Amino acid sequence: MEVKMKNLFEYLKEMYDIIIIGAGPAGISASLYAKRANMNVLVIYKGTSNLENATKIENYYGFPDGITGQDLYNSGIMQAKNLGVDFRVSEVTSIEYQQDGFNVKTPENEYNAKSVIISTGNKKLKPNIKGINEFEGKGISYCAICDGFFYRNKKVAVIGSGEFAFSEAKMLSNVVKDITILTNGEQIKSVRNNFKINTKKIKKIVGSEKVEKIVFEDLTEIDIDGIFIALGEAGANDFAKTLGIITENDNIKVNENMETNVPGVFACGNITGGLLQVSKAVYEGSKAGLSAVKYVKEIKK
Ligand SMILES: Cc1cc2nc3c(=O)[nH]c(=O)nc-3n(C[C@H](O)[C@H](O)[C@H](O)COP(=O)(O)OP(=O)(O)OC[C@H]3O[C@@H](n4cnc5c(N)ncnc54)[C@H](O)[C@@H]3O)c2cc1C
Repeated sequence: MEVKMKNLFEYLKEMYDIIIIGAGPAGISASLYAKRANMNVLVIYKGTSNLENATKIENYYGFPDGITGQDLYNSGIMQAKNLGVDFRVSEVTSIEYQQDGFNVKTPENEYNAKSVIISTGNKKLKPNIKGINEFEGKGISYCAICDGFFYRNKKVAVIGSGEFAFSEAKMLSNVVKDITILTNGEQIKSVRNNFKINTKKIKKIVGSEKVEKIVFEDLTEIDIDGIFIALGEAGANDFAKTLGIITENDNIKVNENMETNVPGVFACGNITGGLLQVSKAVYEGSKAGLSAVKYVKEIKK
């Protein structure tokens, strides 16, 4: 039985040379270069790529009549699949250091890699609720692992309704006294870890020096010490903070080789800022892919 459990555990923790998070033009371009250098490559993605929202791309090389963003996106993924790149459709909720590389977690599984490329686009979701901007840093946080400790034995809320919200709540449950997940009107399909859920629409967040109360549309209210925002998928900024990656204006800081300040972690595409266009994402993806290949070859020596 013990042997079987161990095998299952090993099976669940798959090992790759390079894991790429995101399947937009940056991530896919990185995967093409890495795979063609004989690396064992996995792309994990979930959620919408910016490209899918572009009705028509008319300024990218090679399409005289333009191409829809969706078609360009689908073709990129198909090209990488044809080359033998592995794909998983799942949300990455965290990346952590471990001996020999990195551990990448999704709700269903965890994967190991020697190197990680972050290409998750530039989305930092903020709910449109009165008081959010005013209380940022004064009771409103975007990172459970960074700020959870300040709310030891206190009462907190997590705003969100997806995997990321549950993963943040789970992290906080080791530290705080009381957690409620506030979906702000969204319905939740499945509840995990018996967290308290409140699906009322939020009207505003109020306080004097710092957050004190959440007021709902029906004018009921709850007292609260801290609020963690965890909408949509975990964003690059969340990964960045937990790994100690330097960011600037919500963009990951990289050098000309797409290296972050953390050895083995690279970033490319919209998440590094600058020109938010497909051509730049593709260029940076190729650079990040090649840099990750070089890094993996060095550590294998
Ligand atoms: C309406 C619109 C029109 C545009 N028009 C043009 C144009 O005409 N020309 C042009 O060059 N550019 C255009 N762009 C910009 C272009 O789409 C982006 O610059 C490009 O898509 C950026 O690529 P990326 O790979 O960095 O990010 P994205 O394409 O956004 O891809 C990000 C990837 O990360 C995944 N992801 C994010 N978080 C997670 C997570 N936690 N776990 C797993 N996966 C995750 C997403 O699912 C996605 O696969 C347009 C954008 C929009 C929105």
